[in-house]
Amino acid sequence: EQAEAKALYDAYEFTAKFYNYIMLNTEQGRPALDYLRSRGMNDRIIETFQLGYSPNMRDKLAEILGKRGFDLALMEKGGLLSHREGSGYYDKFRDRIMFPIHDQKGRIIAFGGRAMGDIQPKYMNSPESPLFNKSRNLYNFHQARPQIRKSRTVVLLEGYVDAIKVWEAGIQNGVASMGTALTREHALLLRRNADEALLCYDGDPAGQNAAFKSIELLEKEGFHVKVAWLPGGQDPDEFITQFGGERFRREIIEGALTSTKFKLQYIRKNFNLTDVDGRFRYIESALKLVAELDAPYQREHYIQELASEFPYAADNLTQQMNGYRQDLL
Ligand code: ATP
Ligand code: MN
Ligand code: MN
Ligand code: MN
Repeated sequence: EQAEAKALYDAYEFTAKFYNYIMLNTEQGRPALDYLRSRGMNDRIIETFQLGYSPNMRDKLAEILGKRGFDLALMEKGGLLSHREGSGYYDKFRDRIMFPIHDQKGRIIAFGGRAMGDIQPKYMNSPESPLFNKSRNLYNFHQARPQIRKSRTVVLLEGYVDAIKVWEAGIQNGVASMGTALTREHALLLRRNADEALLCYDGDPAGQNAAFKSIELLEKEGFHVKVAWLPGGQDPDEFITQFGGERFRREIIEGALTSTKFKLQYIRKNFNLTDVDGRFRYIESALKLVAELDAPYQREHYIQELASEFPYAADNLTQQMNGYRQDLL
């Protein structure tokens, strides 16, 4: 067990160096390097995140791992190689940009691989293994932890590239959940290091739905949750590429909404507010959300917001909201 784990750590470390070497120093790695540069990733980023390229060859990695004395059956278990009866071992990742995934201690435990063209799947991740559990590990946590602890705030992102771009924009407390939903285990791990969680998911409907779910999960663990809302369906990477890191920090991060405000905006799209009945139904839904808040002053805050937006007295809105509160108890 111990010996297997040690061999896997060594193999991943070696493989990351191999992928990085191929990208930086070989002809066949050139398109990968150009691809990363076209996406705004410079040499410093490539080094910090140990990015690389898995060559488009049948069994180059298998061959080199074998020469180095690694147990190929174990490498298959660890997700680096595949195996077919009679045809031996061959490389699992081919012709992809490689993102090493680290554990809390900074050891590589898996890889994410991105295709450069429109090949499906766009991303391929290492399978779950004794070392890699998607519901426990977060991308970039090992590098972000000091700043998470210092600021007592964690910024939650969806993708590898988002975590990298946000880091480069000067926000060094960002981690990504790598496409899976945030889990309770993630929340507990983060809660030991932070009190506030700032959700910065993709601005598309999928990202907004994910944010809605993460809010519940995080608040249950005692987090203060804020939500950074990206306009036009963009993700953090796209926003930063188009508008720069400075605007990202100022407009998106500093402009983050409270979780309640985010929910109010989120449900609002479902109603036609130019129609009286649509307005009634939005206000009812909004008051039901407000009714769930524990702090009386916070309920008052949102009631006042609604009262200033719609032509109804705060007293009447409060009365209605208190009715919903009775229903909750
Ligand atoms: P890019 O900017 O490179 O196009 P992205 O991060 O914006 O990628 P999304 O489609 O938003 O891509 O997915 C977010 C994250 O979800 C990815 O970074 C990756 O970790 C994970 N992911 C996406 N597609 C897959 C997939 N097919 N298999 C496994 N994980 C995936
Ligand atoms: Mn997405
Ligand atoms: Mn995205
Ligand atoms: Mn993206």
